Amino acid sequence: MAASDATANAAGSPGGAARRRLVIASGNAGKLREIDHILAPLDFEVIPQGAFGVTEAPEPYCTFIENALTKARHASASTGLPALADDSGICVAALGGAPGVHSARYAGEPKSDARNNEKLVAALDGVADRRAHYYCVIVVVRSADDPQPLIGEGLWAGEVARAASGEGGFGYDPWFLIPATGLTVAQMPAELKNRISHRALALASIAGKLRSDF
Ligand code: IMP
Repeated sequence: MAASDATANAAGSPGGAARRRLVIASGNAGKLREIDHILAPLDFEVIPQGAFGVTEAPEPYCTFIENALTKARHASASTGLPALADDSGICVAALGGAPGVHSARYAGEPKSDARNNEKLVAALDGVADRRAHYYCVIVVVRSADDPQPLIGEGLWAGEVARAASGEGGFGYDPWFLIPATGLTVAQMPAELKNRISHRALALASIAGKLRSDF
């Protein structure tokens, strides 16, 4: 659902029972697009936190799970609705797992995919070991103080390419190569990324609970 539809849809689906509302604790357009697509079969009314004027929570922690929990609680506390947060990044073996939790701001403020990718490529100049993985934690809270959040994780192994390719996706996708496919993630059809990505795996691992226990 587009952010601009949030207000209209918040009143419920036309002519039927109101769908369950779920606030997405992110302002990242690429993430929002993918989460929206992956969650579509679950029939939630997916609303970006920006539609409520909620701004990004600080992410001060050194683990993905702590940052995801903080973001989900912040969005739920600010809106009074259940919330879903995604904390994710690229972890490069030869860099000791960096950029990791710092992926969004690897090259500093303001956030820039182009500068992040430039810094990553420079850090791997002359490095033979190109192994890397994408990692994603998804947290869903029913309320800000939910003692039993739903937690899913996904890992997608690949490597940092020698050259950027493709126009799709976001972030590090033009440089993240999946050797089994011979494609960077930016070269993949969105439908394929949304079936096999770290984000797809993390959401799939909690989909059953989202269907029945939510
Ligand atoms: P977060 O918003 O703090 O979770 O930061 C996530 C960052 O990790 C993004 O801004 C991207 O730089 C990177 N990232 C996470 N998932 C992906 C992906 O699917 N493709 C490309 N980059 C990603």
